[in-house]
Amino acid sequence: MSKLFDLMSVFNTEELSKDETFFLDEVSKTTSECFKGPQNLVQSLGELGLFQDSVSPLCYGLALQRVESVDSGLRSLISVHSSLGLYALKRYGKHLLTDDYLNGSKSLAFALTEKDHGSNPAKTKTIFKLSSDKKTYEVSGEKAWVTNAKNSDALIIWGSLDGETVGALVPTDTKGLEILDMPKTYSLELSKAYSLKLTKCLIPKENLLNIKGIKGPLSCLNNARLGVAWGVMGLSWSAFLETLEYTKKRILFDEPLAAKQITQYKLSEIYAKIIETQFFLKEITKLKTAEKSVPPHLVSIAKMRSCEKAFEILKECRDLLGGIGVTEDFSIARHMRNLESVRTYEGTDTIHRLILGGYITKEKKF
Ligand SMILES: Cc1cc2nc3c(=O)[nH]c(=O)nc-3n(C[C@H](O)[C@H](O)[C@H](O)COP(=O)(O)OP(=O)(O)OC[C@H]3O[C@@H](n4cnc5c(N)ncnc54)[C@H](O)[C@@H]3O)c2cc1C
Repeated sequence: MSKLFDLMSVFNTEELSKDETFFLDEVSKTTSECFKGPQNLVQSLGELGLFQDSVSPLCYGLALQRVESVDSGLRSLISVHSSLGLYALKRYGKHLLTDDYLNGSKSLAFALTEKDHGSNPAKTKTIFKLSSDKKTYEVSGEKAWVTNAKNSDALIIWGSLDGETVGALVPTDTKGLEILDMPKTYSLELSKAYSLKLTKCLIPKENLLNIKGIKGPLSCLNNARLGVAWGVMGLSWSAFLETLEYTKKRILFDEPLAAKQITQYKLSEIYAKIIETQFFLKEITKLKTAEKSVPPHLVSIAKMRSCEKAFEILKECRDLLGGIGVTEDFSIARHMRNLESVRTYEGTDTIHRLILGGYITKEKKF
């Protein structure tokens, strides 16, 4: 195992069984291999068992941290399949859940956002209408920013039925569904997002999820946001280790950069930020069980704070690397670009403050 994964496991050993520690190391190895080549990460991690209920919430969070220490785009692929798509099926569509999704041989995408309705998905213009035969729903509308849509086998699509938010499992080969390219991004290049155009797509009635109202998609987001919070600590570990190694080797004014007190101060701050954030995440993840979710206000603190800490850490690490920090020899600049998307999706920092504001004051949130 690389030094990075050794460093990350220091935190794990007290909490995890030997089997779980071995499993996390396998997740790291598999993800690193997928980063180098065109392997299918969802399938590979599915074969390892990552999407099974036997994986504890803490172990799942740590697994996402391992994946994101390699690349946020790879973690995004896992989040949309598992934390969003599979979660929706496990909670609201058990009748639609098959082993193919659980073992990763089939993958899912999650289509909530629309061009004009990102932070406010309740305003969806995607319409579900019961067909005259009463056996199908006719679905029309447009979606934007659907990560991995083109490579997925099915999508969880959210829309409105008689004025209420509903969701359905929609196979990607459904007639009338077009999956279109979006403008090229500088961020998350390993998890491309697409737009969708749905023109009178006929969806079997049984493909509808058993949930009505905006709480359906919001509960999926709440689940996925905790995973994002864990994930970004992975990229923080990766940046920290690269920086630590570099400062030990870089000689400036006749001594290693790491020997200077100002550098040690900066490295200590970075290390403390990671450790304190991880302890908070570990505590709130304990609240998650098969029946219970972590309360949304705690998840908002987790997502918002993890991203902010990661942002501060990357900025400091990049500075300590000097000019070489913007080259492809180091992963920090790639992590910085990726983090720009990660801070935006699953609720921007502002949206999480508004969720918290509503929780604290009991006044209107948005
Ligand atoms: C790379 C990437 C992948 C994505 N993948 C998916 C996916 O797989 N599935 C999916 O459904 N979506 C996905 N998204 C969409 C993502 O969730 C949205 O981009 C996000 O919700 C923000 O919506 P928006 O882009 O429309 O921004 P807007 O909602 O237009 O927000 C713009 C600004 O307004 C602020 N703002 C919003 N509301 C308020 C308010 N009430 N008061 C003050 N300020 C406010 C925001 O904080 C932000 O700063 C993805 C996005 C990206 C960038």
